[in-house]
Amino acid sequence: MTNVLELKGITKRFPGVLANDNIDLTLKKGEIHALLGENGAGKSTLMNILYGLYQPNEGEIFIDGEKKIINSPLDSIKAGVGMVHQHFMLIPVFTVTENVMLGDEKLRGGVFLDRKVVAKRILELSQQYNLDVDPDAYVRDLSVGVQQRVEIIKLLYREAKVLIFDEPTAVLTPQEADGLFEVMNNLLDKGKSIIFITHKLKEVLKASDRITVIRQGKVVGSTVPEEADEEKLASMMVGRPVMLNVDKDPSNPKDVVLDVQNLNVLDDRSQLAVDNVSFQVREGEILGIAGVQGNGQTQLVESLTGLRENFAGDIFLLGNKVTDESPRKITEFGSAHIPEDRQRDGLVLNYSITDNLALNTYYLDPFSVGAILQEEIMKKSAEELIEKFDIRTPNAETTAGSLSGGNQQKVIVAREFSRPTKFIVASQPTRGLDVGSIEYIHARLIEKRDAGTAVLLVSSELDEVMQLADRIAVMYRGEIVDVLDAKDATKDLVGLIMAGVNPAEAKEMVKVE
Ligand code: ADP
Ligand code: MG
Repeated sequence: MTNVLELKGITKRFPGVLANDNIDLTLKKGEIHALLGENGAGKSTLMNILYGLYQPNEGEIFIDGEKKIINSPLDSIKAGVGMVHQHFMLIPVFTVTENVMLGDEKLRGGVFLDRKVVAKRILELSQQYNLDVDPDAYVRDLSVGVQQRVEIIKLLYREAKVLIFDEPTAVLTPQEADGLFEVMNNLLDKGKSIIFITHKLKEVLKASDRITVIRQGKVVGSTVPEEADEEKLASMMVGRPVMLNVDKDPSNPKDVVLDVQNLNVLDDRSQLAVDNVSFQVREGEILGIAGVQGNGQTQLVESLTGLRENFAGDIFLLGNKVTDESPRKITEFGSAHIPEDRQRDGLVLNYSITDNLALNTYYLDPFSVGAILQEEIMKKSAEELIEKFDIRTPNAETTAGSLSGGNQQKVIVAREFSRPTKFIVASQPTRGLDVGSIEYIHARLIEKRDAGTAVLLVSSELDEVMQLADRIAVMYRGEIVDVLDAKDATKDLVGLIMAGVNPAEAKEMVKVE
């Protein structure tokens, strides 16, 4: 097979960081080549170089054996390379055709494009590649899965022969992800080639022909799915053996800690985001909330933690009504929070680690005596937590903002887990973290559960919910549509309910299969 793409000796330096270190990568015609690596490994940098957003300090790019200088995305498209971005670049109030036409004027040198001709071409492409996209539909009416296929059509319309997918399944249900893998195979059948970026080990094994792992900017190895398994890939990514499966005993739930009754919450646009939700979480159990992101989980958590007012309904924590209490008051009732957006809600980035660790407790004994801050005691306590929670930092005075994502998250976990709490809300607790940090945080959550804390885990990573939760509540369009015992929940079943299939029907469907 010939190489449609060849990257030779690509090096990219940012101030203080060697993001890509002499990387070689080839893509054969008609293959799916997965690029696997932890957060910060250098995957996006490499792809942005290929896409013309960055210039490499060293190295060369060959397409169909011909050396190319790629100075802009336009050069990249002209060379036949297209990227399906992680966040779609579509305009909701435009139709599919209008979105495809957008930006194309540049390519055609300003020549007027006939909408009907474009629509016809979209329909042809849709049929040819089995994408099921209606050229006249408004993007705002399309599901996320279909929007992704519109992005693909945009690239096909521009005659891309190499398609780069950057974490394409992050926003999909498991069934939608399988649909995408079918589409990828249709693309291959028609002679396209694909670079597939992901951190999900199962997907790499399922969907790729070849796998290249990068770590700290360097290629550490290449393999094929037949010769790899999750453990092997994870240890290549991390550079040491990693425990992928969480060891946990059956739960032993006791008294109700959190009791939510008929909760309704509005989002920023005053739309109902949480629709009459009721549930309880008990001591010693993890209730997992599964759902595609954007189904009300964020607003639910904000309401539970005092960051957003609810519209109707009640919240009780250990029998105390905390419905409209402030975040500090809710914290004082024994609640801990790992927020979804750690930089916005979890840390003060320009404060030191010491100060961030004392954010909830600085005004209490032993950190304040009278009104006087006990700085030595705070510092000593911080140093102990840095040690205990394995926070990698030069020292306790380093600002939180200069830590890596995984270490920022550990600062939050250290702060939230080191005081006595009866209830923990962990929202997307491992999003964007490396495998090593994920392993660490999962173990701490189980430890808290076993110590009798009630844990509410909200995650759009279904694998994470399946691994940790004792019961699984599925959220769809603001409602909790079903609560399953973890031992009865399969990924297929939860995936169907996440996609809006009626739970009773979903249960019949998985029985039949
Ligand atoms: P990945 O996509 O694998 O998560 P990235 O390619 O985004 O990794 O990042 C690789 C390294 O380069 C990281 O240390 C990141 O902080 C750094 N980096 C990426 N983009 C920039 C930039 N524009 N300026 C400075 N540093 C950057
Ligand atoms: Mg990236």
